[in-house]
Amino acid sequence: MTPVITFAGKTVALFGLGGSGLVTALALRAGGARVIACDDSASAMEQAAGQGIETSDLRQADWSRFSALILSPGVPLTHPEPHWSVKLAKAVGIEIVGDIELFCRERAELAPQAPFVAITGTNGKSTTTALIAHILRESGRDVQMGGNIGTAILSLEPPATDRVHVVEMSSFQIDLTPSLKPTIGVLLNISPDHLDRHGTMENYAATKERLIVGSDLAVVGVDDEPSRAAATRRADSGKPLRRISTEPLGSEGVFADRGTLVRVDARNSGSLADLSGTRSLRGEHNAQNAAAAVAVADALGVPPEKIRSGLYTFPGLPHRMEEVGRRGPAIFVNDSKATNADSTEKALASFERVLWILGGKPKEGGIEMLRPYFPKVDRAYLIGEASNTFAGTLGDEVPYLDCGTLERAVTAAAEDAARSTADEPVVLLSPACASYDQFKNFEERGNRFRELVQALPGIEVKGL
Ligand code: ADP
Repeated sequence: MTPVITFAGKTVALFGLGGSGLVTALALRAGGARVIACDDSASAMEQAAGQGIETSDLRQADWSRFSALILSPGVPLTHPEPHWSVKLAKAVGIEIVGDIELFCRERAELAPQAPFVAITGTNGKSTTTALIAHILRESGRDVQMGGNIGTAILSLEPPATDRVHVVEMSSFQIDLTPSLKPTIGVLLNISPDHLDRHGTMENYAATKERLIVGSDLAVVGVDDEPSRAAATRRADSGKPLRRISTEPLGSEGVFADRGTLVRVDARNSGSLADLSGTRSLRGEHNAQNAAAAVAVADALGVPPEKIRSGLYTFPGLPHRMEEVGRRGPAIFVNDSKATNADSTEKALASFERVLWILGGKPKEGGIEMLRPYFPKVDRAYLIGEASNTFAGTLGDEVPYLDCGTLERAVTAAAEDAARSTADEPVVLLSPACASYDQFKNFEERGNRFRELVQALPGIEVKGL
């Protein structure tokens, strides 16, 4: 844990005890602050009280005694409208910050030179964060990984000069981190998302850009317009910048050229790694993630051969194009995290011949945008509520089976894979739908798929 000593002797209000909130309260207390915590959920309040945290209904509190409101990133700061705790904090003029801000202040106090890599973007944050941490760890560095990826930042070891913190940040977390100044800031990409919480695309893009503005070195994707514009502003500021792209680059950075990562620096350019040798970084989107990770590792002085071996040994993240088994030439891929058509598109683009399991609770627009990929699909296996609608879209273009459940879909797809004439038939769970009609969440859906696949006779489970 990182005790928060910068609030020692002060009293703070904390709202939001899910996820990182409880750890934050404990870290503040360990550093000598008095914390009064609150949550809408009675069970979260009880759990915190059970850990010795003082809880209270902050609506009734005297806010003049608080020196800050520590807010969970899941709670609206501005849109669609500020949460009541935000309004009360603003009324007494105290600062409103999140747990990553507390970390930044500890770092400034304890070890301002401690390497700190912060990663943001609309998509690919977790993959890139995990990949950077993996490459650094494999090269022998002391690495702490956390933030939006699921480990509360203050549960990590404290910052130190010979320890690298690799931290995924959502736009909500950036909003709550006014003194964000990472050693390396990574901005992968920006596309419309979460506009309900940021109001406009301009606000959303500006929030993301703030992560690189304060960084010593910025690593910025230039494959979309808002990120490209952010990179240009960075270049104009004269501060260090490395661009990343899936197209050849004419300036300093790392780009992917048909599966080969190429590093360009002031003097020359040279290929660094061939991504086709990796098993968890398939597809153009992962080439962008890998380019960013390579740019970071290179900037931190990891030698090229260690970067390469890190890329090859990266196991990938569960539920994101995760290979869960093989049988003969067939591979079974769990992409349960693909809860919309945009994400499924990435998976369909990454394979040649697909036996596609899809469906669940449909999203607006359905799978219409995936039509260009239909010729790759040998057969579709429909599950859940979306079956009728999706059957309508597939029409005569793709043969499909209405399976109802994931169990039936896996059985049918595995039988078809065994008969397939494709060089590498891919049984792909990439639902393009939320999971709530049949599962608790996408993790449960993906875990069930993995279990079903691994129970098939003759399945090979590589490296698991
Ligand atoms: P995040 O943490 O930003 O949600 P993840 O790394 O968890 O991103 O990936 C989630 C999904 O987003 C993947 O399954 C894939 O469909 C898509 N994705 C991953 N990386 C990228 C990228 N660089 N560009 C576009 N889409 C991506």
